[in-house]
Amino acid sequence: MVAVKPFLLDTGEGWVLFFQYNKKNSMSIDNIMQQAAIAFQQYRETKAEQKAVFLETIAANMEAAGAALIGQAAEETHLPQARLVSERARTTMQLRMFAALLREGSWVEATVDTADATVNPAKPDIRKMLIPLGPVVVFGASNFPFAYSTAGGDTASALAAGCAVVVKAHPAHLKTSQLVHKAIKDAIFSSGMPPHVFQHVEDGSFEAGESLVKHAATAAVGFTGSFAGGKALYDHAAARKNPIPVFAEMGSTNPIILLPDTLEKNAEELARQYIASVVLGMGQFCTNPGIVLGIESEGLSRFIAEAEKEIAAAIPQPMLHEGIYKAYHAKMEKALQQTGVNVVGHSSTEPGAGEAWPTLAETDGTAFLSNPLLHEEVFGPYAIIVRCTDLDQLQKVWRSLAGQLTTSLMGTEKDFTEHASMRALAESIAGRIIFNGVPTGVTVCNSMVHGGPFPATTDSRFTAVGINGIKRWVRPVCYQNCPQTLLPPALQNGNPLGIWRLVNNEWTR
Ligand code: NAP
Repeated sequence: MVAVKPFLLDTGEGWVLFFQYNKKNSMSIDNIMQQAAIAFQQYRETKAEQKAVFLETIAANMEAAGAALIGQAAEETHLPQARLVSERARTTMQLRMFAALLREGSWVEATVDTADATVNPAKPDIRKMLIPLGPVVVFGASNFPFAYSTAGGDTASALAAGCAVVVKAHPAHLKTSQLVHKAIKDAIFSSGMPPHVFQHVEDGSFEAGESLVKHAATAAVGFTGSFAGGKALYDHAAARKNPIPVFAEMGSTNPIILLPDTLEKNAEELARQYIASVVLGMGQFCTNPGIVLGIESEGLSRFIAEAEKEIAAAIPQPMLHEGIYKAYHAKMEKALQQTGVNVVGHSSTEPGAGEAWPTLAETDGTAFLSNPLLHEEVFGPYAIIVRCTDLDQLQKVWRSLAGQLTTSLMGTEKDFTEHASMRALAESIAGRIIFNGVPTGVTVCNSMVHGGPFPATTDSRFTAVGINGIKRWVRPVCYQNCPQTLLPPALQNGNPLGIWRLVNNEWTR
């Protein structure tokens, strides 16, 4: 029954008793989360500089893991080495980005309103800042073995916020995750962090995930994956005695709107750009543009003809794992069987074992509007073109779609002048509105929003990419009439951290 094997480990700063989780057992999840809770209390008091060094050391260790790490990830995910090299670079860059954020320090949004006895009623001294929530559980994603997995954006932002992190490794790339876990463990010891500030759960079962979400010590959850998975975990979190936030990034079809003037002028170029995005990484991105809308016209016919050529030329590639391969073909078959749906074309290359068959379909606006199944994400290199009778129907189809991570408007200057109101419509649908571009390729920068209305995510107020991802793992607290000696340094009168603060309505350092 007992799946926990306690063992002693010399951390260099004394011996620590570890409970190593090794199989499905709610008792051992309990130990993991208790350890996380203790580590959190120590880690939250750690200075920003030390946390920054810790994050940078993880990045350096991942780089030092070299070609062996890339090779392991390639073997498990079937992703090309070049893609994995750039994904690791993005992951280490994210860790360093959060280290820089910690060193600068102003992210805590320190706000000071000093007391005023001359007003009636007298105003007390009130000071506010952001503090970490507690232990965070992160579910590693199958489609990003580095950037959204063990040391990915959720982990980096939660550690930066001052939270302890427990990652449930995705079973599709367990060995890769173990290597990254080693990079983190080594960083914990070399930078003197609390030993359990990061822990790794290696159990591919729903029960383990459920226990982690339901554990009393868990303060928040980060997830990237299917709608079914994200929603199930969200429901578990909401049903707790003390509900906790779940930041789940789930499905998205990222609709692309082809406006009339650009269709007439640039149909072929648009089709090439579109299909390149659909088949990139065999469509295994949350930003894959699975739906494109255009108004019936000679331009749209040319777009479809060119897209047919492009999809025929696409080369099938292996998918991430068997579950995704099976789900792709089953969902695609089902979509193609729907009334009013026609195949535009498939890749002309027969797919091999485990490979996706790039496929393009088309339907009309009426059939699309009457069938919600066609609105669903088909995770892989599949897309559907919706032929609309006029602008009214196009807008109706667009509005009928559920919340999205992104939506793209393709247009000329004339289009954007004539259809300026479409920007507001786009805002009601998506977190990122792209003009004359495809959604694949998410730039990691301060102003990026990688989020969107449900069901793209469970909380559209936050982003999973960029420095603002840290806001998911913190909450504001204010101190009223707190003695200077008890205030955190960020709120003390002398501003010892030298951070930007809003003091009596004025920004100051
Ligand atoms: P997934 O099935 O959602 O699994 C992701 C993680 O969540 C895994 O660790 C899984 O546990 C856990 N999980 C899923 N359902 C759960 C439940 N009901 N209770 C507790 N834990 C649960 O995602 P996936 O394996 O990566 O791929 C499956 C499908 O997800 C794909 O075909 C695709 O449709 C979609 N997907 C979407 C995105 C996106 O960005 N939109 C990304 C990846 C995948 P186990 O370890 O036990 O499996």
